Amino acid sequence: ATGLIAFLGLGHMGGPMAANLIKAGHDVIGFDPVPAAVEAAAAHGIPMAATPAEAVAEASVVLTMLPSGKHVLDAYRGVGGAGLLTVARPNTLFLDCSTINVDEAREAAVIAVEAGHRSVDAPVSGGVVGAEAGTLTFMVGALLEDFETVKPILELMGKRIVHCGDHGAGQAAKVCNNMILGVSMIAVSEAFVLGEKLGLTHQALFDVASNASGQCWALTTNCPVPGPVPTSPANRDYQPGFAGALMAKDLRLALNALESTGVAAEMGPLASRIYDAYAAGEGAGRDFSGIITDIREKSV
Ligand code: NAD
Repeated sequence: ATGLIAFLGLGHMGGPMAANLIKAGHDVIGFDPVPAAVEAAAAHGIPMAATPAEAVAEASVVLTMLPSGKHVLDAYRGVGGAGLLTVARPNTLFLDCSTINVDEAREAAVIAVEAGHRSVDAPVSGGVVGAEAGTLTFMVGALLEDFETVKPILELMGKRIVHCGDHGAGQAAKVCNNMILGVSMIAVSEAFVLGEKLGLTHQALFDVASNASGQCWALTTNCPVPGPVPTSPANRDYQPGFAGALMAKDLRLALNALESTGVAAEMGPLASRIYDAYAAGEGAGRDFSGIITDIREKSV
């Protein structure tokens, strides 16, 4: 059995994830510097610590769900004070579920192991809805024995737990998947706008492509036009779903990974630019499939 879990970062995702651990009877202590997050967590019945050091002192697992890799590395190392790696008990398992750069995840693992701890990267997909329902997918980068330790914990918050390889492999899997998603949503949206110009109904294009070689998640689940898939965000004026700002963030991580590995990619960087522009405006808070509106508006 795992002992106390220190849960740092109780925002949109972390709050409901921690609540599911509590519901399953796990000992959890939370920390978040933002008062609104503290209040929401307390309402979920999550005991809160006043400082990160207090949260981590007795924990056997330190779970982080933070905005970016800089937040994670700063918290591990400490900024103007002792970091989590210093205050934690020896051989604590550091489990980071934030979405961060692959290189940052590997760095986090190196410094955690150097400090005498264990390290796992386990970013998620499934969004706030999946976090609340406990149906997230976890993509895990870890040594096998550490994977065995975290799997029962992750199963309380998710329904698919995939061991992708060693340190950093979870982030690698996430960044590759989301690059496919970003590129394919743009392709599907361009095809629908082209179909409109050619006098094709949305339903006709959908009926053909969804059963042919154009088939993909962006078309058949998150269809960017209203009608063919009644549950897709297009049917509710592009309320997310998966917000443009998050897609832009994930594509920047993809871009960083493409650059640091030297892959001769063209579509990934282009998708990153397109979603940066989308997220600079109203798209930030709209579903990423709303990119079709930009394409349509720019078309003469
Ligand atoms: P969020 O901004 O709502 O929550 C992050 C929380 O971390 C905030 O409450 C913030 O106060 C807190 N925080 C910052 N520094 C901290 C520190 N040092 N110690 C403790 N808490 C600290 O973000 P979110 O939407 O919950 O996303 C969290 C992560 O999950 C991100 O990396 C994001 O990319 C990823 N993610 C989000 C979604 C989504 O749909 N929101 C989906 C998949 C993955």
